[in-house]
Amino acid sequence: MACWFHQKFIRRNNRILGFRFAAQGCDDMEMAKARVHRIMAREGEEKLWLDELSMEEAEVCVRAGKVVIFPVGSVEEHGRHLPLCTDSLQPEYVALEAAKKTKSLMAPPLRYGVCNATRNFPGTISIGFRSLCRITQDILEELIRNGFRRILVLSGHAGQTHMAALRLAAQEVILHHEKEGLKIKPRIMVCSDYDFAYELRGKHFSEKDGHGGTIETSRVMAIRPDLVKGRSRKSFPRLPRFEILANPEHYFPSGVIGDPTIASAEKGRMINQYVIGEIVKLIEELKT
Ligand SMILES: [Zn+2]
Repeated sequence: MACWFHQKFIRRNNRILGFRFAAQGCDDMEMAKARVHRIMAREGEEKLWLDELSMEEAEVCVRAGKVVIFPVGSVEEHGRHLPLCTDSLQPEYVALEAAKKTKSLMAPPLRYGVCNATRNFPGTISIGFRSLCRITQDILEELIRNGFRRILVLSGHAGQTHMAALRLAAQEVILHHEKEGLKIKPRIMVCSDYDFAYELRGKHFSEKDGHGGTIETSRVMAIRPDLVKGRSRKSFPRLPRFEILANPEHYFPSGVIGDPTIASAEKGRMINQYVIGEIVKLIEELKT
């Protein structure tokens, strides 16, 4: 028993170490990339999660110039019919599919965000602007310290304050390394999968569709139907546009903005495919 395991370990380790040294002697990025894919293929798996790599494999991925996708979500109410992890499920799903298509890496997700409008509903756990900005900055800095130079921050939650915290974090990191003058300058993109999903409003969906509405319900139905509990009623509330509110939930007590009653898994699959295609384009742009 011990012998079989030991032999397997030695074989695996030799391959990885052999590959590591080969990669170290290889200045050509394309060759290094090809070698990463070969070793992953030999292992019979394409490793997608950064934290599932060994340290040797991580080093190889750095040398290959792999793009890292960092998904950010939230713990937030989405009406009576959708789970609190709705904004985590969506970016993680589309990021993983895009990572498979582009041979990118997935950083472990951050499943907390700044949720101002929904913070007083049961179950929402909102963190502060500074906390989100600080932890995002720390994670981006650590990825860069490890040698990764192309990063896509993809958030499922798209609140303005939340997105501003992510953007500020990325900006601090980019400006810091601009001064430092690294040989290969880091590039970071920050966006929400809703930057793309909402492009379908006015074409296939209502212009007013929003939080927990047709698009969001459909997407979760396609990803995790087991977590969808029926449908909340449609609701198109009008929230004050500029006022800072202590109790925004008074304006949308059902926690829904849109019409979940016409959602379907089929629509969700169509939306998700569209979003995946757009993320793949972003990653290809990052690779250039
Ligand atoms: Zn959401």
